[in-house]
Amino acid sequence: YHVPQAINEPIQGYAPGSAERAEVQAAYDKMWNETLNIPMVINGKRIETGKTMRVLPPHDHQHNVGSFHFGEAKHVHEAIQASLDAKEAWENMSWANRSAIFLKAADLVAGPYRARINAATMIQQSKTIFQAEIDSACELADFLRFNVQYATEIYAEQPYTHSHSGLWNRVDYRPLEGFTFAITPFNFTAIAGNLPTSMAMMGNTVVWKPSLSQLYSAHLLMEIFEEAGIPPGVINMIITDPQETADIVFGHPDFAGLHYTGSTTVFQNIWKTIGNNITKYRTYPRIVGETGGKDFVMVHRTAKVQQVVTALIRGAFEFQGQKCSAASRAYIPSNLWQAVKTGLVNTMAELNMGSPRDFENFITAVIHEGAFDKLAKYIDQAKADSNAEIIAGGNYDKSKGYFIEPTVIVASDPKYVTMEEELFGPVLTIYVYPEDQYEETLKLVDETSPYALTGALFSEDRYALEVGERALRNAAGNFYINDKPTGAVVGQQPFGGARASGTNDKAGSKQNLYRWVSPRLIKETL
Ligand code: GLU
Repeated sequence: YHVPQAINEPIQGYAPGSAERAEVQAAYDKMWNETLNIPMVINGKRIETGKTMRVLPPHDHQHNVGSFHFGEAKHVHEAIQASLDAKEAWENMSWANRSAIFLKAADLVAGPYRARINAATMIQQSKTIFQAEIDSACELADFLRFNVQYATEIYAEQPYTHSHSGLWNRVDYRPLEGFTFAITPFNFTAIAGNLPTSMAMMGNTVVWKPSLSQLYSAHLLMEIFEEAGIPPGVINMIITDPQETADIVFGHPDFAGLHYTGSTTVFQNIWKTIGNNITKYRTYPRIVGETGGKDFVMVHRTAKVQQVVTALIRGAFEFQGQKCSAASRAYIPSNLWQAVKTGLVNTMAELNMGSPRDFENFITAVIHEGAFDKLAKYIDQAKADSNAEIIAGGNYDKSKGYFIEPTVIVASDPKYVTMEEELFGPVLTIYVYPEDQYEETLKLVDETSPYALTGALFSEDRYALEVGERALRNAAGNFYINDKPTGAVVGQQPFGGARASGTNDKAGSKQNLYRWVSPRLIKETL
C-alpha cells in the first residue's frame, strides 16, 4: 500500500491582523499566566515526584511559568522496564497501524496543537514566532510525514537479493533488540520530536531524555503522542540527572541504540562509556549523533555582495545563533570587504532585539545564564585582544533576560579563538583574506576547525565553485552554494555532518531509519 505523499507543511506568515497571529498571541498570553506542571511520563502514567524546578523564560528570567518534576534513579529503571514491556506488542503492530499513528501526530502538530506548541517554544526556548513556526510546527510535522514515507519505502523494498524458482530470499526488517535511548537538545522542538519518533517508527521502544530547557514543548509532545495513539511505554519521557541516567542506561544489557543531538564533548564521553561497557550488551548498540559545528561562509572575489550580507545575517543571527548549523566564521576577500562591512553594519543597526511576544523582534534571548556568560566572556576577550576588533554589536545585558546583541568580530589571525571554537550564540567572526589567495584560504577553511557540519561557498565563477567544492569536500556534511549554511528542509536537504560534528546519519532521511532496524535475511528453499 502507499502512504500519503509527504509534502512540506506550508509556513504560516503571521502577518499583522491575521487569524494565526491572534491565535498564537492568545495561546502565549494564556500559557504565560497559567501555572504549568510538567510530570515525567513512564508507561503512560504521569509521574510527579514533588521535587520540582521552575520553568523560567530566558527572555524574562524572573517570570515563573510553572515547574517540572525531577526524577531519580528508580525512574530511569522504570522507564527502561516500561520500554522493554511495551516492545513486543509495538513491534508486532502492523506498519499500517503504526504509520497511521505518526501521520495523526503530524496532523495534530500542524493543526490543533500548532498555536500551543509554537507558544511553548517561544516561552521556554525564547524563539520568535517565525523561528517557532519553522521549527515546532513545520519541521516537526515534516519529520513525521517524511519518515513515514521513508519507512514505508524501506519495508517495501525487499528482497534486496536475487531470488529464482525454487528459492526465495527475503528480508525481515527487525527493530533493534532491547530498548533505545534518545537525548535531545533545547534548540529544536522538531529534533526533540524527531529523535524518539524515528526510532519508534521502526518498531523500537524508547526512553527519552529531553533538555531541561525544552520541557514545555516536550510536555506537549507527550500529549500529542498520546492523543495520536502511541501506546503506553513506547516513548517514556524522563527528567533526571544526566550522569546518573547515563550510568544506568549505558550499563544495561538491553541498551540497543542511542539517538543523540547535543554537544560534542558529551557525545564523546557517552561513546567512551559505551565502549567501556561493550561486553555487557546483548548486541552492539547503534550510535547516532549530531553534535557541534563551526560552520563557515567562504566567499570568492566574484560573489554578489548583497547575497553574502544576507546569508551572514540570517545564517549567524537568526535563532539567536543557537543552531549547530549557524554561520560562525566567514572568509571575505579583500576586494569585497568594504562593501560587505557596510552592508553588515547598516543592516544590523536595524535589527530589533527583545521578547518573542513582540513580533517585530528579529532576535531574542539566549537559552540560559551559562550560555550568556560564555558568550559575554568571548566578547570581552575580543574587546581586549589586539588581533580582534568588534565592528558591530558587542553589548549584552542579563538584567531581565539573557540578551546578547548580534556581534561581528573581525580577526586578523585566521586561527583566532572564535574562528575555531563553537560559541553557539549570535557571534560571527570574520577573517579578511587577500583576494588572490583563494586556494590557500580554502585550505585554511578546511583545517581550522575540527567540525564538519555545514558550510557555504559564494561565487559567480564556475571554476572557483568547482575548485572550492572539491577543496572543501570533507569540511561539511551540508554544503551550500550561494546560500546561507542553515535552514535545511526535511525532504529536501537531509541534515548532518561528520568529523567532530557527528555520525552523519542525516536527520530526516531513509539512511537514518536504517540505523534503527537490524535486517534478518531469510533464505527459503521452495
Ligand atoms: N537543521 C537545522 C538547520 O539546517 C539545524 C539543526 C541544529 O541546529 O541542530 O539549520
